[in-house]
Amino acid sequence: MRISSNFDSGNIHVIRAESPQDIQLSIPKDNQSEFYQWFHFKLDTTSFVSHQISILDLAKSAYPDGWDNYQAVASYDREEWFRVDTEFDGDSLTIQFTPEFEHVYFAYFAPYGYERHLDLLAWSQKSIDCQQQYLGATLDNRDMSLLVIGQPEAGKKTIWVTARQHPGETMAQWLIEGLLERLLDDEDGLSRLLLDKAVFYVVPNMNPDGSYRGHLRTNANGINLNREWANPSMENSPEVFWVKQKMKQVGVDMFLDVHGDEALPYNFVAGCEGNPNYNQTLAGLENSFKQALQTVTPEFQDVHGYEKDKPGEANLTVAANAIGHEFDCLSYTLEMPFKDNIELPDSVYGWSPARSKQLGEDVLVAMRAVVDKL
Ligand code: ZN
Repeated sequence: MRISSNFDSGNIHVIRAESPQDIQLSIPKDNQSEFYQWFHFKLDTTSFVSHQISILDLAKSAYPDGWDNYQAVASYDREEWFRVDTEFDGDSLTIQFTPEFEHVYFAYFAPYGYERHLDLLAWSQKSIDCQQQYLGATLDNRDMSLLVIGQPEAGKKTIWVTARQHPGETMAQWLIEGLLERLLDDEDGLSRLLLDKAVFYVVPNMNPDGSYRGHLRTNANGINLNREWANPSMENSPEVFWVKQKMKQVGVDMFLDVHGDEALPYNFVAGCEGNPNYNQTLAGLENSFKQALQTVTPEFQDVHGYEKDKPGEANLTVAANAIGHEFDCLSYTLEMPFKDNIELPDSVYGWSPARSKQLGEDVLVAMRAVVDKL
């Protein structure tokens, strides 16, 4: 029996792995940080034998509530990620599983690897509407890549979508894949209409270093990028620096920053109600977008989510608040669950890449409801 994680987005520490009924693991912290939650490893073993895999010391993980009612994902082919029986006792997560094959992967959520990220960028250039731009380098010298979709012209709106500031939130990039597949479909009427009215600036992965390293929340230097938007630095947060520089150059009429939430079993948005510039116009745009998204999909709701900021008390280091403030525009953080949408539970897959991709398509429908008013 053998456990390994020395691959793209792999992350696990083996305490003990000698008998199938007594596998003990822990999750290494993101580099130079206290955050830990993302795991991804491969088990080589005997098929059709019952296994008990315990991940220890989770009371101090980044989001202990994330383990309640959570089911880990597993895969034999790294394509289909299904949920497995998982229990949490307040500190240890125990997976009970009888593999049907000798090699099985486990992860916190369906991974979105660096090669797939490169595939997505390469595929997108085949669309005449899409242009790939290099913004600058990350700390590990990876490319920060931007996709510009549509022809910039006077009078067109500028819509920004970013994903995976927190690299373990892979559902965010799955959403981007769905959004791009629809937006780059030149036979899709909605996409043609949107591209008549707007140019899209999409950053499919804001944190490629953290993604590859198997981090939950930070970049290579242990920096939480979603607290860097007031004053990004080349030293600590070049990822944000490059994107913000481009935003200043082309402007922002709408911003959507896509995330995953460890604890809440819902899809929801967090708005800019605590920003100093918040007003009736922005509130109206927020409501139009939310109502449209609720109409198009029952996967989205507006009852459960984060506590609203009090007026003037928004944290302006957070991307959606910072950009909503600086550009006086509609700006949302969109959150998806790691667990499931408990209003439409799926016991086999839980919240999944397919559902994230569908939500990415549905977001475009909601954008139609606001694009003329941005
Ligand atoms: Zn996040």
